[in-house]
Amino acid sequence: MNKLMNAKEYEESLRKLKLKVYMFGKRVENVVDDPIIRPSMNAVAATYEYAHKPEHEDIMTATSHLTGKKINRFTHIHQGVDDLVKKSKMGRLLGSQTACCFQRCVGMDALNALSITTHAIDEKYGTEYNKRFLKYLGYVQENDLTCDGAMTDPKGNRSLSPAKQFDPDLFMHVVEERPDGIVVSGAKAHQTGAVNSHEVIVMPTITMREEDRDYAISFALPSDAEGITYIMGRQSCDTRKLEGLTFDRGNMFYGGHEALVVFDRVFVPWERVFMYKEYDFSTMLVEHFAAYHRQSYACKVGVGDVLIGAAQTIAEYNGAERASHVKDKIIEMNHLNETLFCGCIACAAEGHREPSGTYQNDLLLANVHKQNVTRFPYEIARIAQDIAGGLMVTCPSAADLASPEVGKWVEKYYRTRDDVPTEHRLRILRLIENITMGTAAVGYLTESMHGAGSPQAQRIMIARLVNMKHKQKAAKELCGIEKGDQVS
Ligand code: SF4
Ligand code: FE
Repeated sequence: MNKLMNAKEYEESLRKLKLKVYMFGKRVENVVDDPIIRPSMNAVAATYEYAHKPEHEDIMTATSHLTGKKINRFTHIHQGVDDLVKKSKMGRLLGSQTACCFQRCVGMDALNALSITTHAIDEKYGTEYNKRFLKYLGYVQENDLTCDGAMTDPKGNRSLSPAKQFDPDLFMHVVEERPDGIVVSGAKAHQTGAVNSHEVIVMPTITMREEDRDYAISFALPSDAEGITYIMGRQSCDTRKLEGLTFDRGNMFYGGHEALVVFDRVFVPWERVFMYKEYDFSTMLVEHFAAYHRQSYACKVGVGDVLIGAAQTIAEYNGAERASHVKDKIIEMNHLNETLFCGCIACAAEGHREPSGTYQNDLLLANVHKQNVTRFPYEIARIAQDIAGGLMVTCPSAADLASPEVGKWVEKYYRTRDDVPTEHRLRILRLIENITMGTAAVGYLTESMHGAGSPQAQRIMIARLVNMKHKQKAAKELCGIEKGDQVS
């Protein structure tokens, strides 16, 4: 029977994992209850909780093409344009409810890209990767698992290919082949949601050539497989989470995380290997995954919704909401945010069916969308900081507001209106601080820049995918250089 886990069941399922996690130089014994990690677990838990809300069921759940049963959309293989559009709406919905990275999209995008690529490899080489993959997918859907889609290798010297690096482990590679499987070594960097995942799905990070055959591998492992170590990434202001539930954390409930995931001679059984030295399919896997994940940046539209709401609120608290320049700035924020939404809906609406039956979003429009994401959240954040004013970074702590000695001064001098408690003003400022320069800025800003590929990666794809000949032909015909079908 398929289960549709709820938040509590998800949390309990994580407690069963034996992850080897390090943070601040020490082993984290209780990952789920760690105060710094827990908000990120809460954010993934929201992907489970919302699947149980009747008003969001249509967006958050789907029908498995394998079993016909209801599943969480994060484990679904897109069966039509409608599924792709709902995926974008799901991203915005969850972004607007958590105001951070909810981490589960990467695995969904890896599953969909592999459904296409394993099918294509089999067509060319007569292999059985797709059969293996579908069996694995059935297991993921059946148990409603969260998968970490692991693509980004450390990459070492950028001017050298994987096989030419001074240290072979700088790209994930096979170190031993056994009758029952392979042994791999390497690492994946910046892994979103890694320690909140049940599974890790590894993919190559760039186009591989023949000399890189040992690096052209894709496979899945349980996240607590022997030989995997997680080293947590730091975030700006992360230790505020150690101060208890004070409003200084800005977002009281949710957060994201990234980690460096090290694979030290890890065994992978053959049934979990989905690409093995077929270097000529690495580009396909990378590009399809990238297009899906660039669409997934619908999440930033949801976070933008929260930031715009916060900017409007602080403008009202400050008594500045009727100033024409403030109104115009809010309009600009909305314009930019909805333009982002246009992009992730458009690349979904222009999706097409691949030979495997999976629907792929439009690659060109997905890249254009992600290129906008590398810019617009920064501008939205700039305007939010403009409207918020300097107090966002100079206001005293929640403890000062609560202090029997100085609390009355903070209360008195940071009060703007008699109908707005000072605490409310400070809370909304801390939220803006969190999204634009605190822990959530990792997801809203830097990840918008570099996640799913840095800006230049999209520009290369845009240059490759636009139909320049078609544009030139139209121009040349209309000015009479070439003959076309025009009426005379
Ligand atoms: Fe999903 Fe957005 Fe986080 Fe990427 S950044 S995993 S798309 S929520
Ligand atoms: Fe990402």
